[in-house]
Amino acid sequence: MHPNSVSSASEKQHIVIVGGGMTGGLLAVLLAEQGLNVTVLDGAPAPAMPEGAAQLRVSTLTEASHWLLRNTGVWDCLDLSRVQPYHAMQVWDQDGTGEVLFRAEEIGAKSLGWLLENGHLAAALYRKAATLPTLDWQCGVQVDALRRDAKTGQWAVRSGDSFWQADLLVGADGARSQVREQAGISGGPRDSGHHALVATIATQRPHDGCARQVFMETGPLALLPLFTGEGQDDQRQCSIVWSGWPQRIAALRDKDAAAFAAELQAAVGGALGPVTLLSERAVFPIQERHASQYISAGLALVGDAAHVIHPLAGQGVNLGLLDAAVLAEEVKRACEQGSGCADPSALARYQRRRRGENLLMQNAMRGFQSLFEQRALPVRWLRNTGMRWVNQAGPVKGFFARQAMGRSADLPAKARPPVWDARANRH
Ligand SMILES: Cc1cc2nc3c(=O)[nH]c(=O)nc-3n(C[C@H](O)[C@H](O)[C@H](O)COP(=O)(O)OP(=O)(O)OC[C@H]3O[C@@H](n4cnc5c(N)ncnc54)[C@H](O)[C@@H]3O)c2cc1C
Repeated sequence: MHPNSVSSASEKQHIVIVGGGMTGGLLAVLLAEQGLNVTVLDGAPAPAMPEGAAQLRVSTLTEASHWLLRNTGVWDCLDLSRVQPYHAMQVWDQDGTGEVLFRAEEIGAKSLGWLLENGHLAAALYRKAATLPTLDWQCGVQVDALRRDAKTGQWAVRSGDSFWQADLLVGADGARSQVREQAGISGGPRDSGHHALVATIATQRPHDGCARQVFMETGPLALLPLFTGEGQDDQRQCSIVWSGWPQRIAALRDKDAAAFAAELQAAVGGALGPVTLLSERAVFPIQERHASQYISAGLALVGDAAHVIHPLAGQGVNLGLLDAAVLAEEVKRACEQGSGCADPSALARYQRRRRGENLLMQNAMRGFQSLFEQRALPVRWLRNTGMRWVNQAGPVKGFFARQAMGRSADLPAKARPPVWDARANRH
């Protein structure tokens, strides 16, 4: 029997996860670690470890996400020369004097977060999954239909001529979730009005492990410190996420490389000296979503299938990973109590613990977006004064830094460091 095993009745149950992205992949690992039978179905080919130049899609991971990966052994499956920790975060208003500089040491931490490629994390999860005997991860399987048998309560999942039966079905299939749609759960998109342009750049000055974000009237621009590979320590590459109105972002994408670089350099006030474009420029429309409910009979939604937020604070993956950890924690508890993996109370607890927190983050992102789009003088004055005040007020600044690091009150056990002093909220 598996060392952390749940009851033998639960061992016979079957969980199907549609979507093996970062959220679905972590959930699968967390559930299979408990000895539960899990099948992951993903339409994409098997994720492979990246080599050479950095991939375009990257994510910032919070401390909570970092511990989730450490505590599941996924961190050990990463190529650490491709993971860049950042120790500081500088946020400023282009249209004024407001600036906040967060430093990890001010809150007793070594790093504020880590930057890594999405494909790299997916590959590490896939590698970890291969070590878990009760986990079957099938790639190239596009799920096209779902049906729940009212008598048995089981879900039937279909892809072409193949079928799977699930006691618990999880939709981790991203923003355009089929599972959400076919379960009749509304998750209507709300156009944020923004598109996001991502690219990789080289900078003349080193980033020194500092993440930078400038808020402009036309939208935010983030410069995220990128690894430069094994043995290289010059720290002169950044990943950028530049959000704004679609016409503006399309114009930035269509500029020639030198003109784009000049505009980027001007936008960040020359913070890192002259810059050079190293990659293509990819543009993503930002459509926010929030599912009206995260659960239904024998079914749960996690990650972007449940919520999509503006990427301006780099929190999307982090929220998804916490969804996965909380759902796995509740399922584990239900299985240990003999109520089975699809116990309605366990699913309800999952929804209660995650939906409010995710909504709060989504609303905060909307608030930031609209605050920095305001041209009215009193609002601009207030926001600059507010930023200067936060920068000088130690406890308030610490509060914001802890939020950005994912240190919320209701963290699942797997998202905490092995020794955690809850009162001091630090380790
Ligand atoms: C420009 C930009 C920058 C961002 N930066 C950050 C950041 O810095 N930090 C951060 O935390 N977040 C960031 N995000 C958000 C983050 O990328 C998403 O929240 C995250 O990728 C969601 O992961 P997921 O696993 O839930 O869904 P996805 O990554 O969308 O994965 C869904 C998986 O489901 C599979 N799938 C879909 N449909 C089916 C089907 N019918 N059958 C089988 N398989 C299916 C897909 O192949 C895929 O593997 C950013 C987003 C954008 C747009």
